[in-house]
Amino acid sequence: MPFDPASFNPPTRTLMGPGPSDVPPRVLEALSRPTIGHLDPRFVEMMEEVKGLLQYAFMTENALTMPVSAPGSAGMETCFANLVEPGDKVIVCINGVFGGRMKENVVRCGGEAVVVEDEWGSVVDPQKVEAALQAHPDAKILAFVHAETSTGAQSDAATLCRLAGEHGCLTIVDTVTSLGGTPVKVDEWGADAVYSGTQKCLSCVPGLSPVTFSDRALEAVKSRKTPVQSWFLDLNLVLGYWGSGAQRTYHHTAPVNSLYALHEALLILREEGLENAWARHELNHRALKAGLEAMGIGFVVKEGDRLPQLNAVTVPEGVDEAAVRRTLLEEFNLEIGAGLGVLAGKVWRIGLMGHASNRRNVLFCLAALESVLSRMDAPIEKGVAVDAAMAVYD
Ligand SMILES: *Cc1c(COP(=O)(O)O)cnc(C)c1O
Repeated sequence: MPFDPASFNPPTRTLMGPGPSDVPPRVLEALSRPTIGHLDPRFVEMMEEVKGLLQYAFMTENALTMPVSAPGSAGMETCFANLVEPGDKVIVCINGVFGGRMKENVVRCGGEAVVVEDEWGSVVDPQKVEAALQAHPDAKILAFVHAETSTGAQSDAATLCRLAGEHGCLTIVDTVTSLGGTPVKVDEWGADAVYSGTQKCLSCVPGLSPVTFSDRALEAVKSRKTPVQSWFLDLNLVLGYWGSGAQRTYHHTAPVNSLYALHEALLILREEGLENAWARHELNHRALKAGLEAMGIGFVVKEGDRLPQLNAVTVPEGVDEAAVRRTLLEEFNLEIGAGLGVLAGKVWRIGLMGHASNRRNVLFCLAALESVLSRMDAPIEKGVAVDAAMAVYD
């Protein structure tokens, strides 16, 4: 075949997987505004607003609140690379994929990982964490995932941060999937290093990672005995560009247009209001749940521990889960997520994140899923899902 590329025109999908989620037109329009210099005074003004808007989203006064110029994984790595020095002991909670990645980060920073494990689909058990903190009084950091996207479980960040504080530990908290969808209260929790992502409940394009560091955490970064191994993520250097009152010296070229998009996405969040956004995610989750349960499809995570924005549900007996996802994509332009790790092949992950968390998507997803499953002769209850969801809205 001759090499004959043309402009790429992606199909218009409805994104109800684990991220990216649907990006609203306002954010896409912001992305297409003229590129200006990353040291342009007008751009620098906007950067300051982005910091303020992120403080709003994270519910923090932390001066060090900014987007890292790379996806959520880089936010994770920023926290570990800056806070973990060779030999440091870090208690890492693992109850899904992302806790496992935290451990990998600790090891690669030369730290010693003490793992507290919980089953996939369960929340992090505070009693186990407390026992680990008691058994390891020399631990420097407690790291955990607030919203485990691989399973849909939400852990009790307030309690875990309190326990860490009582034992003199700093905390690293993953809020990639929670920020903008469920309460993330950095200052109230007393969390120290918290990172997120733009493509989940913030409904922005992928590729940026908001982070926030408490003064205590920043102090730990500044008083390191060894240089941060990563040049790009070393906050001591990054702050020369992003820091408050910094000279804005060149560190790397900021992703200018992506930052316009983030600015717009955060404005939308602020216009709606955090509390309203949380309530919207909760309502749409309840409607989706009613519809799925009416159909006979159950959840992986027990009630009360579930994330409204990430619904991990069990695939009905005998159904080829990959074929269902493929058909949803081909016939309905609808993307839902597959299971990861131990849940691969057993579950679907239905996201209701940010802009995508709306009534139309809930009803569309239920109708599409029912249509595909019916034609596969799957053992589901037919003709009841949409009405069950509507009953929640009414
Ligand atoms: C998506 C996700 C990440 C990684 O973010 P990327 O932008 O894909 O690098 C990290 N942690 C959690 C909990 C996530 O859901």
